[in-house]
Amino acid sequence: MTRHDRDFDLIVIGGGSGGLGGAFRAASHGAKVALLEPDALGGTCVNAGCVPKKAMWLAADAGEQLAAARALGFAVPDDTPLDWNVLLRHRAAYIDNIHASYRRKLEAGGVTVIAQRGALTAQPGEVRTDDGLLRAGRILLATGGHPIRPDIPGAELGGVSDDFFAMTSPPKRVAIIGAGYIGVELASVLHALGSHVELFARHGHLLQAFDDEVTGKLAEAFAEDGITLHFDCKVAALEGTPGDIRVMTLGDVAHGPFDHVLFATGRGPNTAGLGLQEAGIACNARGQVVIDEWQATSRSDVFAVGDVTPQPALTPMAIAAARRLMDRLYGGQADARVDVSQLPTVVFTHPPLATVGLSEADAREAHGDAVKVYRADFRPMLQSLSDGHRRFLYKLVCVGPEEKVVGLHMVGPGSDEILQGFAVAMRMGMTRRDLHDTLAIHPTSAEELVLI
Ligand code: FAD
Ligand code: NDP
Repeated sequence: MTRHDRDFDLIVIGGGSGGLGGAFRAASHGAKVALLEPDALGGTCVNAGCVPKKAMWLAADAGEQLAAARALGFAVPDDTPLDWNVLLRHRAAYIDNIHASYRRKLEAGGVTVIAQRGALTAQPGEVRTDDGLLRAGRILLATGGHPIRPDIPGAELGGVSDDFFAMTSPPKRVAIIGAGYIGVELASVLHALGSHVELFARHGHLLQAFDDEVTGKLAEAFAEDGITLHFDCKVAALEGTPGDIRVMTLGDVAHGPFDHVLFATGRGPNTAGLGLQEAGIACNARGQVVIDEWQATSRSDVFAVGDVTPQPALTPMAIAAARRLMDRLYGGQADARVDVSQLPTVVFTHPPLATVGLSEADAREAHGDAVKVYRADFRPMLQSLSDGHRRFLYKLVCVGPEEKVVGLHMVGPGSDEILQGFAVAMRMGMTRRDLHDTLAIHPTSAEELVLI
């Protein structure tokens, strides 16, 4: 590299959702950009998160459709085993295509990709790589996060979500520890693909931060399907040997044996070796890079997006934060910044759970008696048609005399696809009246929301 090749407008550290989103957008505004990524392009989402997870979810969904088809009279044999390796091949090919498309787009945008780790130094505008120093007017930290294991005896016997994606055959008996997004998604998909699953939650709910009623409905569905739920159950240790593991809970109760135990107990920011202390970058008690609403850190040349920050750890959040930041820094849009309120999100379980805005509890805390709640508890047509008895729930949380919708919570087939459009309407100030004034699409599940 010549001296000229080492000078950039922007150096992005990390080529995951946020880093790529920032690099593409800055380059489109004419900035000279370098992107540092020592591993596969796309980061967690593409390689060990959203994308491989959704591939497994879609396979599980296809399995469910086979069962419905059988109930409707198709000659689908009772035993329709999944060839896990064929599925993994399709998953890998899909991910390879994403990598190739990123490489093409980076090249077309003139972004210099350097397959190395980067670290800040005490010198503003300077980034250290294995290969020497780079310089830039601005630096974007987008180094993401990693799974955290609890500090309990035998923790090394357990794996994390990355280990799930590395499995070359389905586990027979698996314990999942943690009942957040990853815990419930892994429990659901593994069960649907044929494993015996037990889930350990340290509180009395799945998905603590979500609306209690919809997570309760999800727990009911899990239990009916045969996932064993251990609520209010603190895991104290893992015992045994790889492939023959017991989960020990408080009171010395042994559960298992399991051939796999997966921890889904949260994620921490990737800041090790990033030079944050040397550079004087402030971090919070969880080690995340502190940012303001403009993604600015405590040093004026350094910005941060995504899972390395306290912002919600979701791919669209990392991408939107990075794009708005680059629109502001290089695109002349002085007010561009991401809006973290009314964040739509889907938990890819069977059935999926989709939510945007305030839970009923949070709305009552914020708005007291001005809150009104409406529910649609219904049996989708395919359930009835195939002699299924299961009911699902859509819930609307409204505030004030105009009944402005401040929360929308759904658990049921199709919720994952239905939510996006309603999230747009909520941003535009949707009221219950707007829903009623909209003609239903019949017969669908989504119509339950306009008839609610
Ligand atoms: P990442 O995508 O993790 O990218 C960070 C990159 O930085 C990595 O490639 C890493 O190699 C690189 N890096 C780290 N340190 C350095 C360094 N010093 N120098 C250079 N590069 C470095 N979100 C959703 O919205 N929907 C989902 O369905 C969903 N499912 C998920 C499922 C799982 C199992 C997991 C774990 C996460 C899921 N997420 C999902 C969350 C989503 O993946 C993350 O929020 C998103 O990837 C964060 O993007 P990021 O750019 O901050 O970090
Ligand atoms: P979460 O923070 O969502 O959940 C962590 C879970 O682990 C909680 O149930 C928590 O319990 C529990 N927990 C924490 N420590 C312990 C412990 N020592 N023993 C037992 N249980 C423990 O983190 P995840 O790892 O599930 O996911 C990380 C993030 O990735 C998510 O928050 C989300 O932002 C993102 N993600 C998004 C997905 C999507 O969009 N569909 C899918 C997967 C991940 P408690 O509630 O009591 O604290």
